[in-house]
Amino acid sequence: MRSAAALIFAVSFSFLCAFGKSEAGDKPKAKMALIKEKTMNERWKKSDAEWKKILSPEQYKVLRDKGTERAFSGKWWDNHEKGIYVCGACRLELFSSETKFESGTGWPSFWAPIASSSVATEEDNSFFSKRTEVLCPRCGGHLGHVFNDGPKPTGLRYCMNSVSLDFEKK
Ligand code: FE
Repeated sequence: MRSAAALIFAVSFSFLCAFGKSEAGDKPKAKMALIKEKTMNERWKKSDAEWKKILSPEQYKVLRDKGTERAFSGKWWDNHEKGIYVCGACRLELFSSETKFESGTGWPSFWAPIASSSVATEEDNSFFSKRTEVLCPRCGGHLGHVFNDGPKPTGLRYCMNSVSLDFEKK
C-alpha cells in the first residue's frame, strides 16, 4: 500500500515538470531566441553515434532524446551552493544559482537564465499538449521546459533536468 502511494506521488511530480503546475501550453512572457540550425556552433553539430560516445546513457536519453529524468533523482534539485550551471554536453553557461528557487518539483528550477540568449526555446507539441521546450543554443541539447507559473520578477519556471546540467562552484 505504501509503495503504491509512493508511486502515485512520483508520477504526479513527473507530470509537474513535464506538463506544468498550471495550464500547460501558456507562452512564456519573456521573449527568447528561437533555436536555428545555423546559429548552432559547427563544432557541436554531431551525429547520434558521436553523441553516444561523448555522453553517458542517462545524459544521452535526456539531452539528445528529449527524455525527462525522474523527480528527486537528479544531482542539482537540492543544490544550494553558489555557482553557475553549465550545459552538460558543451559546458555553455546557462543558469546562475542567483535565480534558482525551491519549486518543490524535484527538478532544478530557475526563474531566468543568465541572459535571454543563454537558452533557446521551441514549441513542443508532443504528448497532446503545447509546451515550450528549452534547449542549449550552442549544442542543441534538450534541457527541459519553461512554464508560466514561476516566482517574481519574471513569473517563469525553467524546469530543468539535472542530468542536462553540470555545476561550477564559485
Ligand atoms: Fe550545450
